[in-house]
Amino acid sequence: MPAVSFEFFPPKTEEQRVQLDRTVTALKSYQPDYVSVTFGAGGSTLSYTGETARHLHQQHKLSAAPHLSCVGGNRAELAALLDDYRAAGYRRIVALRGDLPSGMATPGDFRYAAELVRFIREHSGGHFHIEVAAYPETHPQADDALRDLQHFKAKVDAGADGAITQYFFNADAYFRFVDDVQRLGVNVPIVPGIMPITNYSQLQRFSDMCGAEIPRWITQRMRAHGDDADAVRKLGTEVVTTLCRRLLDGGAPGLHFYTLNRAKATEAVLKQLA
Ligand code: FAD
Repeated sequence: MPAVSFEFFPPKTEEQRVQLDRTVTALKSYQPDYVSVTFGAGGSTLSYTGETARHLHQQHKLSAAPHLSCVGGNRAELAALLDDYRAAGYRRIVALRGDLPSGMATPGDFRYAAELVRFIREHSGGHFHIEVAAYPETHPQADDALRDLQHFKAKVDAGADGAITQYFFNADAYFRFVDDVQRLGVNVPIVPGIMPITNYSQLQRFSDMCGAEIPRWITQRMRAHGDDADAVRKLGTEVVTTLCRRLLDGGAPGLHFYTLNRAKATEAVLKQLA
């Protein structure tokens, strides 16, 4: 079984909390290296991220990695959060710039994730293993694909220990990205982010937002299945399992699953990989 990690978002209702517990209970058996918890930019889920990480750590005995985004935040708030996370016993953080919700214009003390990584190192020394985001298909706001590679390298130069990619369905984009940044001197593990496919219209919406490309052949096959949810799930499992196999065969150091707090689709892929 490859090294795996799972990403969850903080639940906000009792129903979502129960759902998350059910998901975590099911996925625990795959012995993840760690589980990460997303962070709402602009402070909207500040407390929920810490609370959820604590729950996963204390109740489920998992190694928890809170995401930390710097956009809209200031040094004092981020320092306090880092101290809380250290006191809670976390050893890993996913450091991001984040995106300001539309309409919010306060950029905060940091403009880019590289500045946050530098700040974490200044404030917490080597305590945290720092993961940063990588974009094999180029970050959607990047003005230039080659400069985007340099900006990725700046995060590693600032002290990141590893990276997790945005999800993608084209393995070559990942291999190309890894080759390109290695040529620039980057030597940290770059773990592919995997998005299991369960619901095509939801996937299309996410992909439009984050700039992930869904290959035409997948779109056409999914459309052909229309409302047949079972057929969509089956095809999704097949496509994502094949992608994971190619990535692992080509040297990917592990897999990070965007679970969306559901176990079924991630489990379906992991069972095929076993
Ligand atoms: P950066 O690395 O700072 O890059 C952002 C953009 O700025 C890029 O286009 C880059 O090329 C450009 N750039 C960087 N440095 C410079 C510079 N010096 N000059 C000019 N341009 C520059 N978002 C959340 O809100 N919460 C989460 O929990 C979350 N988790 C994520 C987890 C993963 C694994 C990934 C891949 C993404 C996640 N995101 C999350 C989304 C992320 O916050 C957005 O994609 C955001 O737009 C960029 O964040 P970043 O850390 O990659 O930013």
